Amino acid sequence: MRLYLSRPHMSGHEEARVAEAFASNFVAPLGPQLDAFEASVAAYLDQDLHCVGLSSGSAALHLALRIAGVGPGDEVWISSMTFAGGIFPVNYLGATPRFFDLDPDTWTIDTARLSEELAKAAAENRLPKAIVPTDLYGQSADLAPLEALAEQYEVRLIVDSAESLGASYKGGRKAGTGGDAAILSFNGNKIITTSGGGMLVTRHKDWADEARFLATQARDPAPHYEHSTYGYNYRLSNICAAIGLGQMEVLDARVARRREIFARYEQTLCRPGITFMPEPADLFSTRWLTALTIDAQETGISREDIRLMLLEHEIESRPLWKPMHMQPLYKGATYHGSGVDEALFANGLCLPSGSDMTDAEQDEVIDRINRLLNA
Ligand SMILES: *Cc1c(COP(=O)(O)O)cnc(C)c1O
Repeated sequence: MRLYLSRPHMSGHEEARVAEAFASNFVAPLGPQLDAFEASVAAYLDQDLHCVGLSSGSAALHLALRIAGVGPGDEVWISSMTFAGGIFPVNYLGATPRFFDLDPDTWTIDTARLSEELAKAAAENRLPKAIVPTDLYGQSADLAPLEALAEQYEVRLIVDSAESLGASYKGGRKAGTGGDAAILSFNGNKIITTSGGGMLVTRHKDWADEARFLATQARDPAPHYEHSTYGYNYRLSNICAAIGLGQMEVLDARVARRREIFARYEQTLCRPGITFMPEPADLFSTRWLTALTIDAQETGISREDIRLMLLEHEIESRPLWKPMHMQPLYKGATYHGSGVDEALFANGLCLPSGSDMTDAEQDEVIDRINRLLNA
């Protein structure tokens, strides 16, 4: 492949940070770079929040759900349109997901539908243990009504902000600050990367303490290894955290570049039948990936026509996430929706959006798509 959807984009500051870790032999497992990385994310998001560096975003979600008390027999209500890492931890805990559609105006969880279903479930005494909205493609979910619902029904709210670090919500509140906890991912394709990593961000100090405890094999205080529960080896390595320190320096610049790429696609490809992911006036998306839909009837060209044509020229693009209620794994699961997510999956495409993509590379993508549409 010549042009990828989203590649790691180093700032040039990372190697010095990694060298510092080597010089002090804080190669593994924990160390000052990890402490500094956690502090730098907290400083970016909200100084009152607690940040715990972990080996992946999925690990962060797993810990958050476990700390929320999710276990066998419990339900977790979750956005259907998400990535595997944003749902599989529900399975790790033996819980049952119940899937929710998107609001067509934001492409994030349909809060009105969620509210109706919570009222019904409360009346029937079958409320979920946790709700997990996904910040899709860099856009913050509608935090205020979600937090109000979570409080009203005393349900834990865990926001999957893996795709939205750098975004903000109404009034400038940062994505990743929502709910009882939010999870972040620093996987290689995300807006910033530690090569692989994640973070649990929480307002509750006891959640952060428990996450650190569970992520380091649940060692009770004792000179020997003493365990009253089971844990995981989930902490972020100090070396990876050093990379993250270099990446935090350029986070806002990366967001600005991704938004510029989105705007350029929108200006040059917009026509009847091509619709770009909406961004409500009071939200600020990272535009992690440029996502659009193609109406084949109106344009005469399908999503697959575009994707396969680009592939022939070694340009990677990808359909939007396949909703989880459509996956073989979740066959028979309950879905509340009207198929907004199904239609997005049928016609939606993510275009190359890496912040290191050059204008010339983007021009080639644009020209090729326009030629196909004009043919
Ligand atoms: C990337 C991502 C995750 C977590 O991914 P990891 O690869 O485990 O860091 C979770 N949810 C969503 C929506 C994601 O995009």
